Amino acid sequence: MSTAAAPADRWVFHQGAFVRAGDVALGAGTQALHYGTGVFEGIRAYADTEGRDSLVFKAREHYERLHASCRLLRLDLPHTPDELVEITTELIRRNDLRGDAYIRPLVYKLSLEPGTPFGVRLRGVSTSVSILALPMGDYTRAEGIRCGISSWRRVPDTSLPARAKITGAYANNALAVDEATAAGYDDAIMLNQQGSVAEASTANVFVVRDGQVATPGADADILLGLTRTAVMRILAEEAGITVAERAVPRSELYTADEVFLTGTGCQIVPVVEIDGRPIGAGIPGPLTRQIREVYQQAVRGALPRYRDWNTPVGLASAAKPAAAAHA
Ligand code: PMP
Repeated sequence: MSTAAAPADRWVFHQGAFVRAGDVALGAGTQALHYGTGVFEGIRAYADTEGRDSLVFKAREHYERLHASCRLLRLDLPHTPDELVEITTELIRRNDLRGDAYIRPLVYKLSLEPGTPFGVRLRGVSTSVSILALPMGDYTRAEGIRCGISSWRRVPDTSLPARAKITGAYANNALAVDEATAAGYDDAIMLNQQGSVAEASTANVFVVRDGQVATPGADADILLGLTRTAVMRILAEEAGITVAERAVPRSELYTADEVFLTGTGCQIVPVVEIDGRPIGAGIPGPLTRQIREVYQQAVRGALPRYRDWNTPVGLASAAKPAAAAHA
């Protein structure tokens, strides 16, 4: 059970300091609000299997990707990946988030520097950093989800690179989700400008057929998901399968034995129906179930061979003062 504070009382890291969420005020002039010129990450922390500590999943990799996104938008992120990992564990400790949690780092254009004229620009605008942490359990649907192919195409790399997590680019994803949910689906799968599969709204797509696994490659206008990489390693180590990174035509989805999505939020979720057609037998397939199981154990630190994915938060050593007094 989490002892989470009310949202306004939660600690957030904002512009270099730990403050209460209710004390953060951002002006209406915040540049990123106007032009979508921010970048972000979504990170999960999991209660470990022994229930003693919390483990941040692929913490350093998330912050390396955040730095890469910042370079694209000329955002001056003043903390190294290692410092950001330390800030994150401190934030989880301060909020005493003992259950599963979600961490949302956000780096964004704040305000025009003196002498910079009003307008759309990347230079001459200050950078702000905020990191939020909130309780978030496992909402993965083990029984699988139903997806629709979106009529909205994924933004191409030549227009707005999907490989960076740019806030403004998520309007593209939001349009796709909106269309899919209005049609009664759980999520959207977007195609790229070439008509090949790109990705789901906030997850990568894997397709299984005759024991072979494929996923759209780095040139398919996708975010190179960290869960995607983790799943590729699990498939190699547990099943001896090398995933083919290649163009995946839409028709391959309809005729697959299994389709699943990977992402920090959804983790690994089976897709059992696409555009009203059942995938395989219309139930989660055996390979999807196997890697889901391994992933769930790995993120909670139960598998020593995947320990390099887990950053311990140190909750055990940060016992609450009241509890310590009775110890
Ligand atoms: N694609 C998009 C568009 C996403 O927003 C996400 C979630 N970050 C993913 C893929 C999956 O990436 P990851 O596994 O790193 O969470």
